[in-house]
Amino acid sequence: MPCQDSPGIRFTYSAEVTVPKDLLPLMSATNPQQKNEKGIYQFEMKQPIPSYLLAMSVGDVAFKSISDRSGIYAEASVLDSAVWEFADLEKMIAGAEELYGAYAWERYDVLVLPPSFPFGGMENPRLTFATPTILAGDRSLTSLIAHELAHSWSGNLVTNATWDDFWLNEGFTVYFEHRIMEKLYGAEYAEMLASLALQDLKATMVHLTADSLVEDTKLKLNLKGRNPDDGVTDIAYNKGYFFLRSIEEKYGREKFDAFLNEYFLANAFRAMNTDGFIQQINTFYKETFSVELEEGIFKEWIFTTGLPASCPQPSARRFQLVEKVLAQWKKSGQIDKAVTLGWSTHEWLHFLNDLPASLTDTQLKALDEIGSFTRTHNAEIASAWFVHVIRHRYEQAYPQLETFLIHTGRRKFLSPLYTELLKTEEGKIFAQKVYEKARPNYHFVATNTFDPLLKK
Ligand SMILES: [Zn+2]
Repeated sequence: MPCQDSPGIRFTYSAEVTVPKDLLPLMSATNPQQKNEKGIYQFEMKQPIPSYLLAMSVGDVAFKSISDRSGIYAEASVLDSAVWEFADLEKMIAGAEELYGAYAWERYDVLVLPPSFPFGGMENPRLTFATPTILAGDRSLTSLIAHELAHSWSGNLVTNATWDDFWLNEGFTVYFEHRIMEKLYGAEYAEMLASLALQDLKATMVHLTADSLVEDTKLKLNLKGRNPDDGVTDIAYNKGYFFLRSIEEKYGREKFDAFLNEYFLANAFRAMNTDGFIQQINTFYKETFSVELEEGIFKEWIFTTGLPASCPQPSARRFQLVEKVLAQWKKSGQIDKAVTLGWSTHEWLHFLNDLPASLTDTQLKALDEIGSFTRTHNAEIASAWFVHVIRHRYEQAYPQLETFLIHTGRRKFLSPLYTELLKTEEGKIFAQKVYEKARPNYHFVATNTFDPLLKK
């Protein structure tokens, strides 16, 4: 160190790390499972990785095994709940291998970070870093782990050559994540995730266009002279996903799976750019199946702004039930609580996203009684609910809103809430007051985002 921060360049590494005796260091490498007397630890990463996958953490963490090749690192206070939450970890690894070939990194462990971690997860090889906000207590937010695991193939094994090709990392990974979730929990479940992804994608299209960033809605980006982080939007993730899904739907799943297996095998531990991908998939379909892929499909998805009219439409039957309940509530003000008892986080999110634009205090109170949104420990639901709370100045929930903003450092949740608060003068005063208290616990990635908006 230092090293060149370009994803097309790879290296192996070894390290010796000395820490105070009560702490345990971990890296994206071979890792210890317990503390030692001296506080000196050796690490080795024998497989070549790009520099963005070199990572280290140091903390008072302990380890618990899930299978002979996977386990959880976390602080003692959350270790048991994390082990429970991620009980399907080995099934996910085995499921991923059945889909797209052997796992190449030997061990797969997950490190649960403190709430200040600004991201959902980071796919550091051998050791995914994860936000504790996915510890929902009902195993409903584990698709994030499927996502980080999928990066062991798309991203870590076959890496985007430049950040302009970022969709190759994320689009493939979201596709793979949904396939893992489908394999473990069924198509109905995966379709809920896809529906939510499409909603998010459409919202991103609208706001990028409104911010004069319509060029950033192409899959192939042009970030010359800009911060590579500007390319980290829903486009790479979800437009990328729907593009790959459209190839799958158009030419058949079997063919696409055969291609992906070959793609990961042939390009392992190498960089890939968008043109290389197009060339490889065209050649593979032609030589293996005598199928000519339509040229237009690449043009309209990769090199054109916006969302193609041919975008696949997920159909989640379980969401249709949610819509029925919502329609009934709009008509009668009543919800049959028994119907909602079996709802997962995804159904509640769909419900909250589809609430009418204007709600009275009485309606908010009634909804809160049905869903216990204000008091929920589920960060996804809390964040979606608090947007309504702010929009309608439902002040009864403001103390919990403040606590949530102070105790959560994940940007995905903070951004929509601060953005909503900043829409009114009153909201801005509240936001600045909360931010002053919350800021010392935020990660610098979060303060970098919010300082320009909120620092007095
Ligand atoms: Zn990712």
